[in-house]
Amino acid sequence: MFPEQSLAWGQSNNVIRKLAAYAAARKAQIGAENVFDFTIGSPSVPAPRTVTDALVDIITNTSPVRLHDYTPAAGLPSLRKRIAEDLNSRFAAGISPEMVFVTCGAAAGLVGCCHGLLNKGDEAIVFAPFFSEYTVFVEGAGAKLVVCAPQDNMQPDMDVFENSISEKTRLVIINSPNNPSGVILTADSLSTIAYILRRAEKKYGHPIYLVSDEPYRELLFDGSSPLCISHFYENSIICYSFSKSLSLPGERIGYLAISEKMAEKELVFASISGALRGCGYVNAPSLMQMVVERCMGQTSDISVYKKNRDLLYDALTEAGFDCIKPDGAFYLFMKSPEPDAVKFSERAKKYELILVPSDDFGIEGYVRLAYCVAESTIRNSIPAFRKLAEEYGI
Ligand code: PLP
Repeated sequence: MFPEQSLAWGQSNNVIRKLAAYAAARKAQIGAENVFDFTIGSPSVPAPRTVTDALVDIITNTSPVRLHDYTPAAGLPSLRKRIAEDLNSRFAAGISPEMVFVTCGAAAGLVGCCHGLLNKGDEAIVFAPFFSEYTVFVEGAGAKLVVCAPQDNMQPDMDVFENSISEKTRLVIINSPNNPSGVILTADSLSTIAYILRRAEKKYGHPIYLVSDEPYRELLFDGSSPLCISHFYENSIICYSFSKSLSLPGERIGYLAISEKMAEKELVFASISGALRGCGYVNAPSLMQMVVERCMGQTSDISVYKKNRDLLYDALTEAGFDCIKPDGAFYLFMKSPEPDAVKFSERAKKYELILVPSDDFGIEGYVRLAYCVAESTIRNSIPAFRKLAEEYGI
């Protein structure tokens, strides 16, 4: 017999993938320009020129053996040093290279944290709306996912959070800017989360680890700057990815950085290393390690996302839809005009609008629009959104 959970995950198609496949089929039938596909959160801008230049130079000038060799499990020492320098120079994060682990993207980093820090029966808290793969990562480690319902503006509800903590809580995952809502956590929210966690640690007599999942860290609008979790909380781990900031999602490269202030940091590092080893993550792709070392601190042209955000948000609100204004990332959360967002998403298909219902993000009644698309897709979709609003009498 196959393990029930693995088989179920393998057989159940994620709703985003299902809708993306539907959009692809419609594009083949009626032409790509006639389908308004807001499903997948994959960068719409190319990696910066420096990435290509670094790739060409590394491929041309590195010995073929070294180029394709295994690296140490935690990554090339020079890259780990460069990551720590970057975090320390930009955020005074106080991270040492020894506490950096280079991963196959944020997904592997999260898997490492869940499998390395959670025992069977432990609980991990997430704030809705949340990246739906957290369920797989937490439950895959044999732990229970505890979901905190948000306030109406999609910010965490701190009373709900405090009441969700139990003696079994071992891990909390935060994500700012957020997928799927685009909202960001303020310094006040981070301070409150840290305060609540410190009290709970004292009460239950064990550490509770806070993982800050930050693949959208640089994708911020309206003058906001990234905040560094290690300033707020000792038992914190930064989980970063170059997938979005450098437009490299298929290359599988990111890192974990454990706070210097964490009392048991060496044990935590060892347990996460062991967990990743157990999952078969031998090392992150060596060529990409060399590339991101050279491109540290750079981004692709992320100004495009702010332009798209403005265009889409203004068009949707003018059409009468109720939207959460995103402060970052490239997602917009829109209230479904009927309680069942799955039905709304179905009705939107009539106008070739492909929108992801929010149910898998831990909250009902919304749809997510990934606006990492061509500006023309947004412009051409506006009449379709107006017709959809009319159908609902908005
Ligand atoms: N965390 C969040 C919130 C995401 O949106 C994603 C990808 O979309 C990931 C993690 C995984 O990112 P990566 O491609 O680096 O594995």
